[in-house]
Amino acid sequence: MSLKTILKYGDERLRQKSKEVSKVSKKIRSLAEDMLETMYKNNGVGLAAPQVGELLRMFVIDVSAPDAPINPMVFINPKIIEKSEPVICNEGCLSFPEVFSDVVRYKNVKVKALNINGKPFVTEAKDGELLSRAIQHEFDHLEGILFVDRVVNRFDADAALTQHNLPPVDPDKMIEPGENLSDIPKLDNVTQKEE
Ligand code: ZN
Repeated sequence: MSLKTILKYGDERLRQKSKEVSKVSKKIRSLAEDMLETMYKNNGVGLAAPQVGELLRMFVIDVSAPDAPINPMVFINPKIIEKSEPVICNEGCLSFPEVFSDVVRYKNVKVKALNINGKPFVTEAKDGELLSRAIQHEFDHLEGILFVDRVVNRFDADAALTQHNLPPVDPDKMIEPGENLSDIPKLDNVTQKEE
């Protein structure tokens, strides 16, 4: 296993759309292990392949509590088959060290993917739990979408980005929530995590 370098916001590779994994080969399994090692080393809860410069549709997640045994999950060629109930939550990203901002996500999500052995599986995450939010965050990375594209307040986000010497929000990339922001509830008591 080896640690990978995590690309930082501003790197154009983070804006590209990743390609399907054609075969879950030994090379892909080894990349998944390297991504997990890199994620744990950086205290993240998720990491997508494009964040380490590999434009492949795969990501890893571990949302287990810090004092619990690890629970690594690998998602290859994921497809989000259902999502419902928009919610505002505070989020961070390993490609934006120490920057956190409120974004719009969905509380519930259902995803279909291949695991590290190439076997299909379906996972459901509900009630805005960390797994639900992490799946949506990582899936966005595969589309070249970053969490700052979904911020609730662009100016607050810009202030945080500037403070950490990162480029500002790109207004052309911003994604409007499906409904009025004032109608979307905020998820409370969320511990800040980078993904
Ligand atoms: Zn991220």
